[in-house]
Amino acid sequence: MKYVFGPVSSKRLGQSLGVDLLPPKSCSWNCVYCQLGKTKKFVTERQEFFPREEILEEIREAIAANTSLDWITFVGSGETMLYKGVGWLIGEVKKFTSTPVAVITNGSLLYLPEIREELLQADAVLPSLNAGSETLHIQIDRPASGLTFRQHVDGLIAFRSIYIGQLWLEVMLLGGINDSNEALYDLADVVKEINPDMVHLVLPTRPAPEQDVHIPSEERIEQAIAILSTVTTVVHPVKGTMDLRSAPDMLKAVSAIISRHPVQQRELQKAIADCFPGDNDKVSAVMQDMLATARFKLVDHGGEPYWVMKDPSN
Ligand code: SF4
Repeated sequence: MKYVFGPVSSKRLGQSLGVDLLPPKSCSWNCVYCQLGKTKKFVTERQEFFPREEILEEIREAIAANTSLDWITFVGSGETMLYKGVGWLIGEVKKFTSTPVAVITNGSLLYLPEIREELLQADAVLPSLNAGSETLHIQIDRPASGLTFRQHVDGLIAFRSIYIGQLWLEVMLLGGINDSNEALYDLADVVKEINPDMVHLVLPTRPAPEQDVHIPSEERIEQAIAILSTVTTVVHPVKGTMDLRSAPDMLKAVSAIISRHPVQQRELQKAIADCFPGDNDKVSAVMQDMLATARFKLVDHGGEPYWVMKDPSN
């Protein structure tokens, strides 16, 4: 499948079918922690990058093949809402399934009324908020010129004022960057203004090709939870896991996931082991065969081996 990948499982969204609407990498930001590498050219204009009917057909097929999905998640190799037609796709998907729809977005385009309107149909929207000040927004998110911090926050506030679904802000906590008390209190002030249903605190557990970013200490994570909990509910989701058991072509399924984010070798091994219970030789052979395709390479991140695509733009 070209647009649909997974399902992947996570504490936040259970069994989630991913739908990627963008050619890599199309983004309005250039985050220091981005797993897709540097944003070579900013994209801020919305386009229908791929025919919407083709995407819809793939979603229809994937839903027919996966009966135990908890969510359908629109997410992109970049900023999801740059795809012109997200609203149409959500509306069409809702005609043939009752599985709820989530949209993961950096939120940078929420200042546009048309974006807010399209997202009203989603059951959950997960925008990024990594900073409580313009300075840290520029340092972490490195937005395209013309996209300001205040515009970002005002877009989120305007959306919250009309949206009755679940608004879950995603905060990437970076060691030594936005984990000081000052940064966290600034962030809490902004979160309070936005009034989300929840904050999901996430960590840079996967390697970022462009810049070395660090996981904060346990003490800083606890402090972030304590400070942000004064203004909203904070959850600290555990890392997602892969489920390959219903994948008709394992190599394709693994490529589809790894081309969107690096995968810890342990996690991949476990997902393959779940497909061949008790047959360790088979698991090793499958992994060796995958490496022999020369699509993937191993990189070290915090002492853990991760699988990444050899060419992240593939
Ligand atoms: S918003 Fe997402 S895709 Fe865009 S640069 Fe940041 S992490 Fe990467």
